[in-house]
Amino acid sequence: MYNKKTSRTLQDCNVLIVDDQTASRLIMTTLLEPLFTCHSVDSASKAIEFCRETPPDLVLMDVYMPDMDGHEACIILGNDSRTEDIPVVFVTASVSDEEQEKCWNAGGADFVQKPVNATTLINRVKFHLSSKLKTDLLEQLIYTDRLTGCFNRHYLEEHLPQMVKDAERENQALSVAIFDADLFKQFNDHYGHIKGDSCLWKIAKSLQESLLRPRDKLIRVGGEEFLILLPHTSEHGARTVCERILQTISHQYIEHSASPTGYLTVSAGAATYHPNTDTSIDKALMDADKCLYHAKANGRNSYAFIDEHGDMLVGAG
Ligand code: GH3
Ligand code: MG
Ligand code: MG
Repeated sequence: MYNKKTSRTLQDCNVLIVDDQTASRLIMTTLLEPLFTCHSVDSASKAIEFCRETPPDLVLMDVYMPDMDGHEACIILGNDSRTEDIPVVFVTASVSDEEQEKCWNAGGADFVQKPVNATTLINRVKFHLSSKLKTDLLEQLIYTDRLTGCFNRHYLEEHLPQMVKDAERENQALSVAIFDADLFKQFNDHYGHIKGDSCLWKIAKSLQESLLRPRDKLIRVGGEEFLILLPHTSEHGARTVCERILQTISHQYIEHSASPTGYLTVSAGAATYHPNTDTSIDKALMDADKCLYHAKANGRNSYAFIDEHGDMLVGAG
């Protein structure tokens, strides 16, 4: 979310056209391409893959396709946290009562009859995209920290349970790491709050740039304290990320006269939640906090983490 433009327009929107027939894809693309960015795929499974990798703002979904039908694809998209917010508009030749009910029950936002009427198709797409833009903007305002542009505590409270559920469903480790600026009170006292604010912005930027996977999340949880959530990441991966972040931040060489290195540094604590064991995400968060405390006590500009045997280890950037 950090780099997302604050106000997107309809022209910035991506529409995915899903139809097994080349002619249908071509007609819809020709009609919509001048107004929006269009992508097309010829099967439901390719549509699901596309949506997981690069979520579009709207899907135009054919109903009858050989490998999987549009209803089933819509249900799968709706049950996946990565794709649940993408509106699906069915494009179907059959609009019998039974057919309409199936579209609504699958979680469709709307449907358009085939053969498509050009004006209706364009206006339905416009309507759904406008409403998606408004929802996105609202979410951005609610979940974004104004100073740094990263997610806020409210986002964490709303989304952590779903990330834990995803980890459990996929049986994949979820690592958490807490970063805290070193001697930041002295930074503010010496350079003033405005420079302090701009320094926090730089820290957030470095943190965001150090996260390489789209599912990694950065949250400002306190004044100069940031949490990162790393799905599909083991103890080893969390350690690598901590090291990279400590290095990136110290290599920015932000002057800090009270710091032993002369530059601003951060300390970090990390821990890993393994689903289907007797631990919990709360325990991982508490462990990460303890590790952070340990890194601070250990001289700062370092990180501590709980390894796969449950032992606390310390490392430097
Ligand atoms: P430590 O290395 O042990 O973390 O020491 P510290 O000085 O960083 O920690 P402490 O918790 O004592 O102080 C945190 C300081 O962070 C307090 C305040 O001056 C600063 N701070 C918190 N939020 C903001 C903010 O939004 N803007 C600015 N400029 N400073 C902030
Ligand atoms: Mg601090
Ligand atoms: Mg602090």
